[in-house]
Amino acid sequence: MGINTELLWTPGALAAATGGTLLGTPAPAVTGVSIDTRTLAPGEAFFAIRGENSDGHAYVGRASERGAALSVVERGRVSAMPAGTPLLAVDHVLGALEAVGRAARARTPAKIIGVTGSVGKTTTKEALALGLRADGPTHASAASYNNHWGVPLSLARMPGASAYGVFELGMNHAGEITPLVDMVRPHVAIVTTIEPVHIAQFASVEAIADAKAEIFSGLVPGGAAVINRDNPHFERLAGAARAAGVATIIGFGEAAGSDARLVSVALQAQSSTAIADIMGETVSFKVGLPGRHIVQNMLAVLASAKLVGADLCLAALALASMGPPPGRGVRTPLAVKGGIATLIDESYNANPASMRAALAVLGGTPLTGRGRRLAVLGDMLELGPEGAAMHRDLAMAATAADLVFCAGPLMRALWEALPATRRGAWAPDAAALQPLVAERLRGGDVIMVKGSNGSRMGVLARALIERF
Ligand code: ATP
Repeated sequence: MGINTELLWTPGALAAATGGTLLGTPAPAVTGVSIDTRTLAPGEAFFAIRGENSDGHAYVGRASERGAALSVVERGRVSAMPAGTPLLAVDHVLGALEAVGRAARARTPAKIIGVTGSVGKTTTKEALALGLRADGPTHASAASYNNHWGVPLSLARMPGASAYGVFELGMNHAGEITPLVDMVRPHVAIVTTIEPVHIAQFASVEAIADAKAEIFSGLVPGGAAVINRDNPHFERLAGAARAAGVATIIGFGEAAGSDARLVSVALQAQSSTAIADIMGETVSFKVGLPGRHIVQNMLAVLASAKLVGADLCLAALALASMGPPPGRGVRTPLAVKGGIATLIDESYNANPASMRAALAVLGGTPLTGRGRRLAVLGDMLELGPEGAAMHRDLAMAATAADLVFCAGPLMRALWEALPATRRGAWAPDAAALQPLVAERLRGGDVIMVKGSNGSRMGVLARALIERF
């Protein structure tokens, strides 16, 4: 990627937005916003955020060496900064980033979409960005930047001349979406689905629905809520939207009565084609990612694109070029004994909903020769006291695989519930499981690796790639 030389902010505009004081001689144009010197590009403003493990103020010298236009630091820390460094001194650095995010939101005429939900946020956000880019300049959050620093950072990076902005909003606890959506102030708020993710921090799945519903409180007047009609919590969410004064509530899904409704679908190994009725307009589309769950997300994408006035046909066409982000279904050929096996790397994260979706995709992947479907599964974390039961409950879904390999104490519950013929191996962790999987692989196999981030199944996937 080339270096961005376009003006995003002037130092004066950053000072005005934050109430900060400019010190030294900053470059006249700030071309981007960064909170990490490892990825900072020349010309960007470096916000020296204090995190749990590190304090950005320690990296201000490094930011200057890399060509930062200026660094945003706490007033009380100015005297400890390297001499000659252009600075913007503020009361609180994260607060300053939020202020710049608000200023970015205030100055843009862009139509804004906020995406939350238990699963599918990043997929939906990426698909929306693709679809809307076909229609006009679109800014979207990077990666899964959806928390207390990710949202203001994503906003602060939005060029003023954007036509569309797409932001992901995440939460682990009740009350976390409210301050995020107050910054984003979307025209359209999507709730992809409600599932028992991070349930350890909640009293019930209903409480998760209520926490996601906070997104409706931040909609601009006249804004629309886009909610999953097939999810059992649809009515609860729609009620919350109405209570927040939202008049336009769009249900998406397969259920009769959905405003954005799936008419028909053909699932293929690496993509799907579908026909949908999007608020009275019939659209056919192909999406370059496998699985019915992905098609369902696309209904929310197309409904939202229509709601913000984008060209629905252009948006639908663009979905064909979707590909999997790292760790979310990327396929790699492995040269194993007797031929080529296919690794499906789903190791980025896991919860019961995404595990079922990934197992269904594995089950739908065609085989060649003597190939088999192998599922290599690590613990799903943060599920609270019901965790073991939720692992055990996957036994039926896991029969999509011919052989199931399990890593971790929670996956032991699934392992014990499997019929003996489906048992590959169990090991206490990913590292111990890896050689047991490797020795069983043979040509034609399709092997899907998935688990919560903390289960380190990504390390297992990478080890297989290095080995073969
Ligand atoms: P995170 O907060 O962990 O980034 P997310 O909400 O952004 O998660 P994605 O990254 O889009 O979710 O998807 C995570 C996993 O869930 C992927 O394996 C994806 O295939 C699966 N997934 C996406 N959408 C759905 C859905 N609607 N239902 C079930 N699983 C889904």
